[in-house]
Amino acid sequence: MKRLYNRSYFFDHGIHFECRRCGVCCTGDPGIIYVGKDELTSIAEHLSLQVPFFIEKYLYPIKTEYSIKEHADGRCFFYENGCTIYPVRPHQCKTFPFWFENLRSLKKWKRISRECPGIGCGPLHSKEQILEIVQSNMDLVVKMNL
Ligand code: SF4
Repeated sequence: MKRLYNRSYFFDHGIHFECRRCGVCCTGDPGIIYVGKDELTSIAEHLSLQVPFFIEKYLYPIKTEYSIKEHADGRCFFYENGCTIYPVRPHQCKTFPFWFENLRSLKKWKRISRECPGIGCGPLHSKEQILEIVQSNMDLVVKMNL
């Protein structure tokens, strides 16, 4: 991890970001939306559902954890004119757009910046904060055995 911090990146001076809750990243092409076992209770409680019912209705198993179901057009089951579980949304959603795949090159970042209107707005996230988020997602990938 120390090696990560000692390197130079295009975001050495940080990146401004604040989610505008536009839903672009919650809709569109289908994909996996990981929900860890440790996230089940908080989301189920937010929906006033029992965990087994929540799993059956909204999730499907993937590897050792779960993913949220999507509509045929790729829209997350929880996106209805905004994210209906925003305060308890999964770690994967909370950490967007600071994912390794988006930050691995300036070219990739510019591409995601064109799609996400939150990039360039809001508070400045330092290089260290961004790398911590990247690391937390890498931990998730390891945990999921991907
Ligand atoms: S695309 Fe960006 S601004 Fe829109 S909901 Fe996703 S993170 Fe928020």
